[in-house]
Amino acid sequence: MLASRISSIFKKMTYAALRAGRNPEEIKLIAVTKAQPDDKIIEAADLGLRIFGENRVQEAKVKIERIKGFNIEWHMIGHLQTNKVKDAVKIFSLIHSVDSEKLAITIDKEAEKINKIQRVLVQVKLSEEESKYGVVEEEVENIIKVIEKLKNIRVEGLMTIPPYFENPEDVRPYFKRLRQLRDLLLNKYPFIKELSMGMSHDFEVAIEEGATMVRIGTALFGQRIKEEVI
Ligand SMILES: *Cc1c(COP(=O)(O)O)cnc(C)c1O
Repeated sequence: MLASRISSIFKKMTYAALRAGRNPEEIKLIAVTKAQPDDKIIEAADLGLRIFGENRVQEAKVKIERIKGFNIEWHMIGHLQTNKVKDAVKIFSLIHSVDSEKLAITIDKEAEKINKIQRVLVQVKLSEEESKYGVVEEEVENIIKVIEKLKNIRVEGLMTIPPYFENPEDVRPYFKRLRQLRDLLLNKYPFIKELSMGMSHDFEVAIEEGATMVRIGTALFGQRIKEEVI
């Protein structure tokens, strides 16, 4: 069941990449495991998935403690409060959701304490209907400049959570805008390569528009135990 879902998603990812003339290997699947039971996560790890995404530090912390011994990495994809940063830098290889200078500075401080260079993405808010969190487009360059000066945090790209539309085609303009913003920034900041965009119902469109990371939960694992607010 899970095995066939995984192979079907990889197939769709591959075809979407090829349609856009892209190399399918440059796109990573982040398996979103928030509110999913341990056995499904372990099965996914056994089946070869390597990157898992969580949106709450506390939930992730206990889960990661329980599911030890796999060669997997964890990404933080939800809003991060500054009082959770200390734990977050210990467990996540990539934080997708940096949405303020204050948060970036706190991450840098906590990462320094454990001798880590924390990889992050800047979460961009492209419209008012979007999720509450994110940096508006005009502020993205400023926050990149701030992070560039810090030693223990490294920004590698942008992330967005577009508004929900029944028809994935309606999301396409948002994905396009994030890619255009990334391309503009690339001239000055060649390390801004990653584009984390696309979820279960719109990841193919996101890949056609340049996503390098797609974050997929329900299409892989089915309905979550408890429905959570993003
Ligand atoms: C829950 C979540 C996802 C996955 O959503 P699905 O629709 O289940 O694929 C992706 N990104 C973020 C930020 C999330 O919180």
